[in-house]
This record gives sequence, structure tokens and C-alpha cells, in this order.
Amino acid sequence: MKKSIEEWKKILPHEVFHILWDNGTEPPFTGKYVDENRKGIYHCAGCENELFNSKDKFHSGSGWPSFTKPINAKAIKKQLDLSLGMKRTEVRCALCGGHLGHVFDDGPKPEGKRYCINSKALKFKENDEKKR
Ligand code: FE
Repeated sequence: MKKSIEEWKKILPHEVFHILWDNGTEPPFTGKYVDENRKGIYHCAGCENELFNSKDKFHSGSGWPSFTKPINAKAIKKQLDLSLGMKRTEVRCALCGGHLGHVFDDGPKPEGKRYCINSKALKFKENDEKKR
């Protein structure tokens, strides 16, 4: 299951590799899932790990797909990100380790979290909700 970065570079489209393995960020309001409203599951664009449920998606106005929580606590891992002179919490896929985005503390209640995730790090599969 575990692939090296060199292997991912061969497999993934360049722009997906840039997000997942070069900590890239897609420009706001450009990602295909910003305004996605269908019911389903958002998987990792690299390893297809289930990451987010559409029921936890909300329109944050940030320009990136936003979620109040991951599909379960084991789906993602968080780590401190001090790049660009900011103190942020980075969100990575727990299975393959790819970079997904960041989580902020300004989300809607009760969770109060905003998982700000790049569309290109995700692969949406419609009506897959029962597999939780
Ligand atoms: Fe993954």
C-alpha cells in the first residue's frame, strides 16, 4: 500500500501530485468541488481512502471545499505547519500520507472546525454514504 513519492509522481496527474506531495494549494474558487452539493463520499485522490462525507460539507465562502469533520477520526492525521510565516494545522491522508489542506477553528458549531481541503486532493463518489 505504502508508495514512495517517486512512485506517486509516476502515477498521479502533475497537478494532483503538486497538492498531495508538494504541499500545493489550488487557487480559491477554481476547484471542482467548491460548489458540489451531491450526497456521497470524498475519497483521497491518491489512495482512495474515504476522507469526508457530504453531510459534513458546508459553504464557507473561502473558495475551497469545507467540512466540519472527517468521515472518522482515523481517516486523516494532523500536523503543525509553520510554513509561509503562519501557524496552521495541516491535514494529511492517514493512509498514504498525502497533503490535503488545513483545519481552522472558525467552523460552524457544534464542532467549530473548518477543514479547508483542496478539490484536487479529493475524488468524489456519489451516493456512497451507507459505507460508513
Ligand atoms: Fe491517501
